[in-house]
Amino acid sequence: GIDQRWEMRMGETADARRIVHLRDRTAQHAAERMRVDFVANASHELRTPLASILGFVETLQHEAGEDPPTRGRFLKIMGDEAARMQRLVGDLISLSRIEADKHRPPSGTIDLAPLVTEVAAELRRTRDGRGSDLVTSVDPLLPPVVGDRPQLSQLLHNLMGNALKYGRAGTPVDVSLARDGAAGVRLTVADQGEGIAAEHLPRLTERFYRVDAGRSRSVGGTGLGLAICKHIVERHRGRLRIASRVGEGTTVTVTLPVAPPAALS
Ligand code: ADP
Repeated sequence: GIDQRWEMRMGETADARRIVHLRDRTAQHAAERMRVDFVANASHELRTPLASILGFVETLQHEAGEDPPTRGRFLKIMGDEAARMQRLVGDLISLSRIEADKHRPPSGTIDLAPLVTEVAAELRRTRDGRGSDLVTSVDPLLPPVVGDRPQLSQLLHNLMGNALKYGRAGTPVDVSLARDGAAGVRLTVADQGEGIAAEHLPRLTERFYRVDAGRSRSVGGTGLGLAICKHIVERHRGRLRIASRVGEGTTVTVTLPVAPPAALS
């Protein structure tokens, strides 16, 4: 009797271990697969503009080099393609730095309000007043959050930049900062663009996932902006949510924990 039951339990334990082991292997395979896909995608994204630049160099070295207007046009395209590669390499470097910091929580405290104002001013300047207008609304009595300044600046840049890129010209992009209960600060960035169909929402923070790759490229997207945002928010122990309605617009909400009183000095 007893021996048999004992044996059965031993058997169950071994089975359970095997299941846990198999799950580990599945997770490992998924992680490995993602890494391979990422390298393949990144290489492809770099190869396309590089091939275009090399093609134009060759053309300029031959016939088109003599005709000034053609030369100017080709040089402009080459410059645009090189700028795309530069953005992509910049985002790849950001992503790897943020990932390297993953297990080291941020140590500073940041006032988000002036940071929002700063990033909004910068985006207005670099966009030459084209497209949508950024409208900010900030609760004046916000407590500081725990944070890494360059990373939070990048988070704001990416989210407001997307709202401007995918918003509808002539409609505002509304950015607001408010309390989120006692322990959090909530940032919302809302545009009135085309919106995103529900089936895409869960995948938007995957690297290189785009709803419309042509549109993303034409507005200077790399497909990495939201993946970077997700990693930054995770490192800050915050939450990122994306809500959207096709034809009405998209709202991204980020909540970040308020800095504990001991962290302030
Ligand atoms: P990208 O550099 O292509 O903009 P992101 O990672 O920032 O990359 O965003 C991924 C995709 O999510 C975009 O290509 C776009 O299709 C979609 N997207 C992001 N933000 C918005 C938005 N505010 N409105 C509509 N679509 C958006």
